[in-house]
Amino acid sequence: MILEKYSFGMGDRFAQQGRAQLRALIKAADDGVEIIPVWNKSHREHTTIGTEPASVRQEADNAADELGWGKSYYVDADHIGLDNVDLFIESSDFFTLDVADFIGKSCGWDLLSEFTNKYEDYLGELKIDGIDEIFEVTQPMLEAIGAKFLLAIMEAGKIYSRIAGVKGRGNFITEVSMDETDMPQSPVEMFFILAMIADERIPAQTIAPKFTGRFNKGVDYVGDIDKFTTEFEQDLAVISLAVKKFDLPSNLKLSIHSGSDKFSIYPAINKAIRKFNAGLHVKTAGTTWLEEIIGLAAAGGDGLEMAKGIYAKAIAKKDELCVPYASVIDIDDDNLPAVDEVNGWSSQQFVNALRHEQSCAGYNPDFRQLLHVAYKIAAKLGSDYIDMLGKYEDVVAQNVTENIYDRHLKPIFID
Ligand SMILES: [Zn+2]
Repeated sequence: MILEKYSFGMGDRFAQQGRAQLRALIKAADDGVEIIPVWNKSHREHTTIGTEPASVRQEADNAADELGWGKSYYVDADHIGLDNVDLFIESSDFFTLDVADFIGKSCGWDLLSEFTNKYEDYLGELKIDGIDEIFEVTQPMLEAIGAKFLLAIMEAGKIYSRIAGVKGRGNFITEVSMDETDMPQSPVEMFFILAMIADERIPAQTIAPKFTGRFNKGVDYVGDIDKFTTEFEQDLAVISLAVKKFDLPSNLKLSIHSGSDKFSIYPAINKAIRKFNAGLHVKTAGTTWLEEIIGLAAAGGDGLEMAKGIYAKAIAKKDELCVPYASVIDIDDDNLPAVDEVNGWSSQQFVNALRHEQSCAGYNPDFRQLLHVAYKIAAKLGSDYIDMLGKYEDVVAQNVTENIYDRHLKPIFID
């Protein structure tokens, strides 16, 4: 199973928008750009909503079938580890092995010296095509990299073997993710991480490093765009070299866990993948759910009432909703509108506050972030929520499709 050059990961918390999401990729295909859909849903989302991984597979199959999508599509077990991978093995064919928790933990001296001995030929100057800087690899540096990452990659090897034991090697896509950690990996670290991945015989087709800056859920990038651009281009250059040096799949590409809506870095990403003729996987968060709320608010009447009711409950349960996402949201409480104020809003006011249009005066990123993590409230509404989505299907679907196509696919892959 070989992942195509461009792929786009999208989440759909309530599994109702698979077709609307896929329509965005069909529009991209009409523009002549093939982008392959990947439906991702993490264990955390499944637990919060009370869904099973099989529901994502069903949604993807149905959407592809109903819209006559003749190309590949994948179902991503997002950020899984040894303790929950079993739940996903049957229904997924794309696995994001999250080993960030093992970074910095010791693998023991024997394995470490085995690693440094194996790569001692790289001591000295390391030139990487596409990077002007020449790196100096020293023995202490190699030891530090081994000490920091070896155990994590061995853990990825264990998860990979567990999946391969059931599905067979080569019958699924593997991603190794180390984005949920504190420090970006340097080019030299990335190079040897990829060596370790090859040594573990993990045929990784995507790797998700940590980049500089904040990737908060559903809002724009916060950080140094020039620094991000340098890191992103360096990672592309390192991957290109590592694929030549180590036993890795030739289509290995970067995966960027965007948390959605990183509009200010999309132009740099677009430029870099062209410059390096590189593939890319962009994983977004479950912001499709916000398009559902936007659609309900835009519909007015009971749709708008439900959207307002969800916000009121979100304010009441704010702390509980935010805890699981503490490291990926930054909400300024002082900027959250009072429930009474929101209850007086028109459809347009609600939509303006929530929709991610930075040029719109009413846009409120704090309101948006709180609602992003408030999907548990909608989950508790159960069939009332799902029925409301059905009632206003057209306006909801239109928002879902336009959001993915206009705000993400076009600036990253098409323009
Ligand atoms: Zn991630």
